[in-house]
Amino acid sequence: MDKDTLSELHRIFQDVQSKSDWKSALDTLFNSMRSSFVFDNVAIYLSDRQTRGLDVVYARAMGRGKAAEADAAWGESVANDVISNEHMVIHGPQKGTNRKDRMTQTFLLGIPLYVGEKLRGALLFVRFGGPEYSDIHIHVASLQAIWAAALIERRELQEARAELDSVQRQMRLQDDFVSTISHELRTPLGFIKGYSTSLLRQDTKWDDATQREFLSIIDEETDRLAKLIEDMLESARLQSKTIQFKFSPIRLDALVRDVTARVRTHHTQLEIDLKLDILPPVLGDGVRLSQVLENLFSNAIKYAPGSSITVAGKAVGNKVRLSFADEGEGIPEEFIPFLFERFYRVPGERTVTGTGLGLYICKQIVMAHHGNIWVESVLDHGTTFFVELPADPTL
Ligand code: ATP
Ligand code: MG
Repeated sequence: MDKDTLSELHRIFQDVQSKSDWKSALDTLFNSMRSSFVFDNVAIYLSDRQTRGLDVVYARAMGRGKAAEADAAWGESVANDVISNEHMVIHGPQKGTNRKDRMTQTFLLGIPLYVGEKLRGALLFVRFGGPEYSDIHIHVASLQAIWAAALIERRELQEARAELDSVQRQMRLQDDFVSTISHELRTPLGFIKGYSTSLLRQDTKWDDATQREFLSIIDEETDRLAKLIEDMLESARLQSKTIQFKFSPIRLDALVRDVTARVRTHHTQLEIDLKLDILPPVLGDGVRLSQVLENLFSNAIKYAPGSSITVAGKAVGNKVRLSFADEGEGIPEEFIPFLFERFYRVPGERTVTGTGLGLYICKQIVMAHHGNIWVESVLDHGTTFFVELPADPTL
């Protein structure tokens, strides 16, 4: 190999390796090699591990001729041939095709793709109107096949790693959940048991005021326990999609006012500013949507104590968008992607109780309405949750 070829290969190798995304790495590979190996279209077929069918995972139209990726059907039978017989396939134009019509003069080259010793698929090239593939072309194409297979393996490893990370995170969440939930269940139970045992003691007489105080603690703790159990069941039902939503036309501005009035009766000091336009109706389940708002209120009250809350509603295109802003401490950016996961709570020192179900429930409800929920937060300035639902054009 002469020095120029070697340094050219070196450059290509570096270029391809530097791409973090496997498709742009393949683009770079095929583009760079086109100086020594010309073709019009390229496609990669992989056999699906489960269905055993063929998937086109990559297709590009580089040269003249047929339009791009969508149409990779041209290679399917050749890919099948390569894969079932585990060998290279070279096809010239079929007999009887019109020699003058370049597009019918297809020269196909199919090369098996091995990941390790396993045959995973085929790399296909097509040239319209020739020329035929020479030995040197076949060598270059085979080199590209080895390279492409390595890139595919890299992609598969990346995917496997991401899956593993997600499984590990789920397992960690489950662990955290067990400790959170046992604490959350035990605390109210402890109060209920303790105060009712005290009230039942034969050897002590409690005055009326004390009895009422104990009973109201028992009452509050029972509510807390009931909410916790209800949230757990609700999240399990939402996850298994066994909830029946009852959809009807709903005005979100009216719904926000209702929920706000209810929240105000329990939190008389809380400052809530409403900035609601008259909103177009959405098709929604009023009970479930109220639950979303209640959870957002509950969070703002818990995590931004003393802050005022601003709820705004406006129409954005053909959607209705609610924003729900507090002026609390905010949420560090690195935790934001996980907030809507089941059982997720921002880690750290905490005195506030919770199970990490609230936002998961919100998200599932909003998704069932074909809507979207997201959050923006600025440390020391506050957190804003957004809920967007499609306006119903038929109403
Ligand atoms: P639950 O709602 O099930 O009682 P929770 O409030 O901990 O428990 P989520 O409502 O899902 O669970 O909230 C997840 C986490 O997001 C919370 O633990 C909290 O750390 C963070 N969070 C939610 N809302 C806010 C907010 N307004 N400001 C700061 N942090 C918030
Ligand atoms: Mg919550």
